[in-house]
Amino acid sequence: MRQTIVAGNWKMNASKEAVNTLIMGILSGMADVKSKVIVCAPYPYLSQVEALITHSQLHLGAQDLNANVSGAFTGEVSADMIKDFGAQYVIIGHSERRSLYGETDDVVAQKVQVALDNDLTPLFCIGELLEERESGNTEAVVSRQIQAVIDRVGIKAFKNIIVAYEPVWAIGTGVTATPQQAQDTHAFIRSMLAKHDGDIAQSTPILYGGSMNPTNAEELIGCEDIDGGLIGGASLKSEDFLRICKAG
Ligand code: PEP
Repeated sequence: MRQTIVAGNWKMNASKEAVNTLIMGILSGMADVKSKVIVCAPYPYLSQVEALITHSQLHLGAQDLNANVSGAFTGEVSADMIKDFGAQYVIIGHSERRSLYGETDDVVAQKVQVALDNDLTPLFCIGELLEERESGNTEAVVSRQIQAVIDRVGIKAFKNIIVAYEPVWAIGTGVTATPQQAQDTHAFIRSMLAKHDGDIAQSTPILYGGSMNPTNAEELIGCEDIDGGLIGGASLKSEDFLRICKAG
């Protein structure tokens, strides 16, 4: 039985005051939440969130890392630094990193490896563009994205990886994949993992991301192969985020 996981991706949205309000709001409603809940904060706020969530059920994540250990990489942040602030999770390969910062499947695979080598659990994002779905290439695209990571870290490493299927056309658009569209792709992803290792396929959490909100979360998370959500916009309001956390 896979535990439901709900992760918030705040992206580049935060201030000290907003973080305080958001975390205090989430903490005040966590008593009856059974899902594992992760908040992925921008780097400057990791320390603040770490302090606020001590001894709570909330877990901390970052939104990216640099694949190098240390050195002359101005503006970049390493796995070690992220861990130093209590983060256990890190989003890798988000579609915004892939499209805006040119992260290729190879770069994403390398970052997944660095996260694993540093005992950070990657929230490894995959998903197709609208034109790729419309041309019938969804399965080919997600296969390619997953295979790049399997080739780099091996299938067994997936026992420490959370997959997030995020159709790019559904991210931040208000257009959500239908539960059937999402379930079909999740089932395909699991079957692809199963070709390499049946046990890993059954135990790997596969989250859905793309305009999940309090209204559609229950139906999506209720699908057999959808193990939770990676939430952007709706993770910025504690009431909405908590309602999604309670949907699992
Ligand atoms: C995301 O950025 O990972 C995401 C799913 O965003 P939204 O929920 O806003 O679509």
